Amino acid sequence: MTSSLTIAFLATCRMALCIIIMCLISAEPAPAQSSDAGLQASLGTLSTERMLADIRTLSAPTFNGRLAGSDDDVQSAKWVAQELAATTLQLPPIMNGSLMFPFVSGKHGTPLGVMASIIPTSTIQPDPELRIGSVDQMTISSLGVDYLPVFDSPAAHIQSRISFVGYGIVDPARGIDDYAGVDVANRIVLFLRGKPDHYPKPVSHADKVRLARDHGALAYLTATGPILNPYEARRGVTGKPSAFYGQLPPDHAIPGAWISTALAEQILATPSDADRLRHLQEQLNKNGLSRATQTDHYAALRWNTVTQEGLLTNVIGMLPGTGPDTIIIGAHRDHFGRPAGLLFPGADDNASGTAVMLEVARALAKSDLRPQRTILFASFSGEERDLLGSRLYVARPVVPLASTKAMINIDHAGVGNGRLTIGVTGLEKTVAQQAGEPAGLASKLDLYGFFPGGDHVPFKEAGVPTVTVVSGGIHPHYHQPTDTADTISPDILMTAARYVLSLAWQLATEP
Ligand SMILES: [Zn+2]
Repeated sequence: MTSSLTIAFLATCRMALCIIIMCLISAEPAPAQSSDAGLQASLGTLSTERMLADIRTLSAPTFNGRLAGSDDDVQSAKWVAQELAATTLQLPPIMNGSLMFPFVSGKHGTPLGVMASIIPTSTIQPDPELRIGSVDQMTISSLGVDYLPVFDSPAAHIQSRISFVGYGIVDPARGIDDYAGVDVANRIVLFLRGKPDHYPKPVSHADKVRLARDHGALAYLTATGPILNPYEARRGVTGKPSAFYGQLPPDHAIPGAWISTALAEQILATPSDADRLRHLQEQLNKNGLSRATQTDHYAALRWNTVTQEGLLTNVIGMLPGTGPDTIIIGAHRDHFGRPAGLLFPGADDNASGTAVMLEVARALAKSDLRPQRTILFASFSGEERDLLGSRLYVARPVVPLASTKAMINIDHAGVGNGRLTIGVTGLEKTVAQQAGEPAGLASKLDLYGFFPGGDHVPFKEAGVPTVTVVSGGIHPHYHQPTDTADTISPDILMTAARYVLSLAWQLATEP
């Protein structure tokens, strides 16, 4: 097997600069092998140790939580590119170290995608402060336990009284106004996350922040209510504050923090009703009447935010096929970085998916398989920021989307109950089910349709069939600083890798 690397670099597109690093893995022509024996041999080469080592590397403090658009993002992209390149026998130019990769045309190497884009990235500076209490006695809340600033919040130097505004929804056509009865001008509003079941439309966090600002609020607090709906309960939603971007343009945003349910309960409690927040949520869930109320509590929010421009970096490796079509195996690499001085290692989210993608690339590059379909291995950035990296790919695909026959997305593949949750769009579910058989996993798959959220979404919207692979069950460290490498299950990781390899093999060798 010989190999070569193609690195494509940089044409500028409007606002943002993104690099696609192309690693072109070229195999010597070998007899087409779609046999079960070939797949079994490949499955046998998968290594749990290598995947765990990759997760430890990516989630180590070296990469600072891989914030999209930061230097750490670029460094982690470079590391992934090196790992992809190392699946070949020939050392590619990227091993020479410089980030200014020369453009190298590979054996199959017509110039492949070239993109450049700069994105602005806001970072809350270390040592933020949230204090809550009565006007003359305020207590400092604990960062990461009682609250997390919303990560793209503007700087905050605000103190005011807290007004509760239910779910923070206003919809005159349906007779709902969660602000009715209170004046929140120059106040800090507190609204619950999500929406009541009786309200039929989706409501975004950004919508709620806009409403708060339009009503004159200076800042907001948001919390999960004490009553979970069945979906939230199944997903293992807790009362903990979570890493989060508000996704508002800077000139629309106001400072905000996600606070724990316990702290929200404390803010609403009165001497006669310690459980007042639960009672208010019960009423809100019954009908659309306003439960807005002034509380006796005040909040002070203090932090600085620095906004910088940086590179959003996708890395793409390629195993050329014999036919005209392509499949993509993708996993996002980015996470939340070190906002407010707090490291978010992102081991399950999504060093785990990245490790699975790399290990499947190693197995396929090593095998004698010359796939019918080209396989692209995509390490996306910007997933945590509204799917910036995968949207960029879909806007400027490396191969035409019309000949892209499937996109396999791996996200959160390292913890849970040992089963795999598979979301399928644009393909028969039987295809995804059958792929589990050679891997001995047919009884461990739970198949669903579309999952909202994730790098498969832009592909689905562009008409590409998608299969999303998530480890089943509850992910207790989801978007928490405790998402560390020591919480990853080796067996679950191997289950995900065996399934993805088997599925990719099936999809890539289809006539
Ligand atoms: Zn993720």
